[in-house]
Amino acid sequence: MAEEMVVKPDIEFIKRIQSAGGESLKKCFQCATCSVVCNLSPDSRPFPRKEMIWASWGLKDQLVRDPDIWLCHFCGDCTAYCPRGAKPGEVLGAVRQVAIEHYSTPTFLAEMVNDPKYLLFLIAFPLILIGAAIHYFGNFSPEGPVVYSKMLKPWPYVDFIFLGAAAYAVAVFAKGVMAYWQDLNVNPWKVRLKENVWLAVAEVVKDILFHNRFRKCTTYFNRSTSHLLVFLGFVGLFIVTAWASSYEWIFHKESPYAITDPIKWLAIPSAISLLWGIWLVIRDRQNPPENAGPGSYFDWLLIWVIAAVAVTGALCLVLRWMGLATLAYPTYYLHLVSVFFLFFYAPYTKMAHMVYRATAMIYAKLAERE
Ligand code: SF4
Ligand code: SF4
Repeated sequence: MAEEMVVKPDIEFIKRIQSAGGESLKKCFQCATCSVVCNLSPDSRPFPRKEMIWASWGLKDQLVRDPDIWLCHFCGDCTAYCPRGAKPGEVLGAVRQVAIEHYSTPTFLAEMVNDPKYLLFLIAFPLILIGAAIHYFGNFSPEGPVVYSKMLKPWPYVDFIFLGAAAYAVAVFAKGVMAYWQDLNVNPWKVRLKENVWLAVAEVVKDILFHNRFRKCTTYFNRSTSHLLVFLGFVGLFIVTAWASSYEWIFHKESPYAITDPIKWLAIPSAISLLWGIWLVIRDRQNPPENAGPGSYFDWLLIWVIAAVAVTGALCLVLRWMGLATLAYPTYYLHLVSVFFLFFYAPYTKMAHMVYRATAMIYAKLAERE
């Protein structure tokens, strides 16, 4: 005899999904076209049809621990082919937002970050923190040639503020990922062998570096290119930051660095990659394919923060070369504020997808779920 199943819908969760970009959820009539057209969906228990059903039933616990919501790369193929205009790609995006809020601490901060009415309040925190550091320990308008370290010394002030922000983000991510990993193991897919973890990690790193999964998408194929440019820009600038720290801490060599310094050979192409990638992202989002939505506040917040980091960073370089101190120092201040915003709030914004998607991809490799 079939087992009886009692479904207790979480009405608040359904409303949250609808308000986060999944307003078309209830249009789904479960035809499964979406699961058939998705090039990333596995043969067994394919997505996103089952997620559409769970979401319309309000099964929050089942959805937030579902690795498949992260195996989706929001390519839009399913949305393009859905005969009911239910936008399954957008619904999965909304579910991912709720999953990020669910696993991050404190939850109220995650909800604030994804609510536009708190945006000015959230910006005010780094604006005041960094502004106070410059006021008390630096100088808003130093004399002479433009040298950003004259505005606020890298050590201890800039390093202390940014290492603090990074440490906070890492701690919140670590707590969230541990909880998520435990929940993942409640799923019906059994993880194979523990000793295969590092092999799975290596395969996932390769997939991420080359965007192998993303490139299987067809309707929004452009998204994989712009995403890859942004990703490579970030990786390059992360290496540049670590490199500059070694210059500062080990070799006591201060910025600005000469154009002939090898650090510039990586910094400039990485900055161009980030700028070019984010410009393509904005352009493509403003001209979405037929049926696709314009993106939610959750999507756009990260796009605009990355754009702010990229544009202010590039302007800092150009304004310093031009010797325009009156514009260069305020731009540098805004650059520091936008970088702080990006990293400190990363566990609550769409930026968190990097961590949860990588975790789900490792789990999927171990569970042979591909
Ligand atoms: S989301 Fe669209 S394509 Fe997928 S099952 Fe529902 S109606 Fe069918
Ligand atoms: S958005 Fe793309 S990857 Fe995600 S479920 Fe739809 S078709 Fe699959």
